[in-house]
Amino acid sequence: MSELLNVDTALDNILDSVKTLPAETVSLPEAHNRVSADDIVSPIDLPPFDNSAMDGYALYSEDSIAASQSHPIALPVVMDILAGSAPSGQLQRDQAARIMTGAPVPAGADAVIPVEDTDDDWVKGESGAVPNSVQLYRSLRRGENIRRAGENIAQGETVMRAGTVIAPAEIGMLAGIGCAKVAVIRRPKVVILSSGDELVDVHGALEPGQIRDTNSYTLAGLVRDAGGIPIRLPIAADTLASIRALYRRALEINPDLIISTAGVSVGAADLVRVVMDELGDIDFWRINMRPGKPLAFGTLQGVPFFGLPGNPVSTMVTFEVLARPALAKIAGREIRQRAIKATLAGDMTSDGRRSYNRVILERNSNDIIARSTGIQSSGALMSMVLADGLAVIPEGATTLPAGAVVDVLLLRDLD
Ligand code: AMP
Ligand code: MG
Repeated sequence: MSELLNVDTALDNILDSVKTLPAETVSLPEAHNRVSADDIVSPIDLPPFDNSAMDGYALYSEDSIAASQSHPIALPVVMDILAGSAPSGQLQRDQAARIMTGAPVPAGADAVIPVEDTDDDWVKGESGAVPNSVQLYRSLRRGENIRRAGENIAQGETVMRAGTVIAPAEIGMLAGIGCAKVAVIRRPKVVILSSGDELVDVHGALEPGQIRDTNSYTLAGLVRDAGGIPIRLPIAADTLASIRALYRRALEINPDLIISTAGVSVGAADLVRVVMDELGDIDFWRINMRPGKPLAFGTLQGVPFFGLPGNPVSTMVTFEVLARPALAKIAGREIRQRAIKATLAGDMTSDGRRSYNRVILERNSNDIIARSTGIQSSGALMSMVLADGLAVIPEGATTLPAGAVVDVLLLRDLD
């Protein structure tokens, strides 16, 4: 038996050979879920000016030192500052300015007393007339209830790094710093190919000996989750002409990545391999992993290409381990596999290859327990439906006992 390729070596080769797509400019709302192409630096302070965190009265904190519930201090109210207005002039010692939340703090003032700590029985809205004076029922610390200019982010500070997926909070920050257009990485177009005489699409009736194509659906979902645009083409028959036609059609779409499934295992494989060899520069690997030993990788007329194994679990696991990081790089995203440590609930066996066993994760008082989903056949798609993660059994190990701590690649968020 020829030597198997190490998973990490395979991944290094793959990541070396794929490139990040160029950027395009989109309007701010369209940037949602896109990937920032650049580090983004704030051109302004946020907040842009010192402002009040409360509805209340701005004053000099030193003037409040002696104030208490039993001995309130009275100050004349000399200004009324609404949100959106600019205070005119400077507040003097022993004066107060009525101020609304978010309104600019007048020069001189260094604290805001909340209205509920004064004698003002504030009628919210525009109706409340400004009183001539206000009684303070407590003292204030310097800076109390003032949001300082730049305390959120200072001019010149980095708001987000290139490679960040722009979520609602990021969109809000970009709006806050006045960034109406955003440079984002172009979304990768990913063509998904299936072939096999046994396969029927979900709409077709099952004849004896046939199964439904599941891989193109799982892959489309995985690609979309990873930020790509999946394009599923119709299933090719097991003839050279049909497979050739499918691959040519894939290339006409001018995709950024092509993923096919099946046809890379020894035996069944021949026709697909012939076409891959005709059109591309492809290596056929035997990887030291389970499931998913056979895998083709290379380029088809310059387009990065994965030939994933056809068994439905192998397809998904090889996507997770090898194709997702590649797609992340193409899409300009951070290449980071989400992994945690977990304790095995029962013994786990392998055949000495690095195994990715489907597990259900449960939190107990101080750690996370990984329980097998049951049957681990590479065709048993239910194991992926049930799985929260893939427990990694290192190469060389054939048994791991209950209680052993393993790495688990997360397939979904843990709650
Ligand atoms: P092959 O590589 O063609 O020998 O396929 C390996 C296994 O994967 C066989 O059991 C196929 O029926 C199955 N298979 C191949 N393609 C798909 C697909 N698109 N959906 C579901 N199963 C598939
Ligand atoms: Mg086949």
